[in-house]
Amino acid sequence: MSEMRKNNPWNFKELILDEIKKNGGWINAHVHADRAFTIHPQKLADYKKYSLEQKWDLVDDVKKNASVDEYYRRISQALELMISQGVTAVCSNIDIDPIAEDRAIKGAIKAREVYKDKITIIYSNQVIKGVIEKQARYWFDRGAELVDIIGGLPERDKRDYDKYEEHLDIIFQTAKKLKKRLHIHADQFNRIEDKGTEMICNKTEEYGLQGRVSIIHALSIAAHNKAYREKVYKKLRNTDISVIACPTAWIDSKRKEELQPFHNSVTPIDEMIPAGITVALGTDNIADFMVPFCDADLWYDLKLLAIANRYVTEIDELVKIATVNGRKVLGLKPDDPGSS
Ligand SMILES: [Zn+2]
Repeated sequence: MSEMRKNNPWNFKELILDEIKKNGGWINAHVHADRAFTIHPQKLADYKKYSLEQKWDLVDDVKKNASVDEYYRRISQALELMISQGVTAVCSNIDIDPIAEDRAIKGAIKAREVYKDKITIIYSNQVIKGVIEKQARYWFDRGAELVDIIGGLPERDKRDYDKYEEHLDIIFQTAKKLKKRLHIHADQFNRIEDKGTEMICNKTEEYGLQGRVSIIHALSIAAHNKAYREKVYKKLRNTDISVIACPTAWIDSKRKEELQPFHNSVTPIDEMIPAGITVALGTDNIADFMVPFCDADLWYDLKLLAIANRYVTEIDELVKIATVNGRKVLGLKPDDPGSS
């Protein structure tokens, strides 16, 4: 025990940071480094005005004119921020779509080359334009070859074409063919009608990809009744699907009048961890149009996740969320910091 902690036994931050260091350092399992630091004060009014679904296209603004070099600079700045906090591995989604084309991933690959001795960097393709529309599909197929982990955003194709399941079929077929892991954004709206996690469990079984799929957010589960939640936890466990919680990204859910079981708008780790589900941590969007106030402070996100779930007594589990579980969802060796 350090001198400081002997003097300040209440200092849980110091205690947890010590343990994280001993366990190989922070793992940030989910960010969007290619759009990092693109917010500015004049855009804050729009942040409130538009929904996430509208923002999927409004962010075209910071993508369409960005050169490979600009993407390289944004991603490098985000990586420097990770390294300064002792993050040993990070997974960033990168837009590879008809707007960004392959400029963001080219900048990302250049940044990985520069920082590879300081941090393990893994990329996943963000399919913000879906995988159904012809051009979007072209860039999805091209992106899938370039990244380490196949990305998914089924809500995008549900919104435009009512094709949630078809989106899943395309990304599952691709992941199977290329023998890559899957990271899927799902159940992020904190709505009782969301049943994406359950559908992903069924698809994982259908394609035989148990242990290779992670869901980013999976927080709408918390809006369902206890019997449904328990059913989904069992399915997650049986298919060995892990969950990446990014609390800052969704704690700002809009006020709604629907009646739901009382809960905070956050991935329900207080129930998932006792149910045997692997949970990792991500900071998600960094100072962009989606989440302007996120400064990718890993300690802040871990603390928020713990407090919002009233999950503050299980220090060992919080350390695992920040370290070993992160390595698992990125497909890294569990005991080998930052190694692939
Ligand atoms: Zn995300």
